[in-house]
Amino acid sequence: MLGRWPHEDRFERVTDMKKLIAGNWKMNGDTSSNAALLDAVLLGTADLTGCDVLVCPPSLYAAAVVARLNGSAIAVGAQDVSTAEKGAYTGEISATMLRDIGVRYALVGHSERRQYHHETDALVGEKAQAALSKGITPIVCVGETLAEREADQTNAVVKRQLAAAIHAVGHCVSEIVVAYEPVWAIGTGQTATPEQAQMVHAVIRAQLAAATPNAEKVRILYGGSMNAANAASLLAQPDIDGGLIGGAALKAEDFLTIIRAAQA
Ligand code: PEP
Repeated sequence: MLGRWPHEDRFERVTDMKKLIAGNWKMNGDTSSNAALLDAVLLGTADLTGCDVLVCPPSLYAAAVVARLNGSAIAVGAQDVSTAEKGAYTGEISATMLRDIGVRYALVGHSERRQYHHETDALVGEKAQAALSKGITPIVCVGETLAEREADQTNAVVKRQLAAAIHAVGHCVSEIVVAYEPVWAIGTGQTATPEQAQMVHAVIRAQLAAATPNAEKVRILYGGSMNAANAASLLAQPDIDGGLIGGAALKAEDFLTIIRAAQA
């Protein structure tokens, strides 16, 4: 059990902040499928006003995606960023390079990076700071595994991960985006219920509020099998300010349905 919501009055949260819908393509796509997906998303978002949208393609395709989206309201994000600025770091891509080609956001600490690349909380914090220092908005991903949830560790894990990022970015906390992504919900089809997600989002909001007077302006995204069917109920929660979407972002119709839910 996660306990009661820290802020019962959050049912009443009123904000003019636009929701943010971010598609994480992971290691999927190729030149022609990317173009087809983007064209369909562009067509469906021609009159986009009510929410912000971004896509995070594999870095190899980022420049082509920026070019294809040129003039549209859709931004481009990276799936990772180096802590280093330049030099002998084979395989790495710096925030300066991302900025140079028109990338505006970067995921940091996605659970797949934490799991497969052994990224620590401290490293994720450094990446967030490296991104911010070059004008790239970091989307700091946090979330518990199933074992941690079952051991009643959800809040502790999420707070520990977020604390490292808050520490690293210092007075720029209000400039980050946070994505709560329970690891057990990523790519599994098993979504947190809106109430489960809201409870953790409220904990994150409270932690942000202890670090910045502008915590209400920090967007907290939910990620983990968000799809066309469940997006509206998740996005209706007071502290869910958008979504980080994996699988459903690869299907234009599903991604567009989620975008429409965020505009409602
Ligand atoms: C993700 O990779 O960030 C994600 C949320 O994936 P999915 O939507 O497929 O669960």
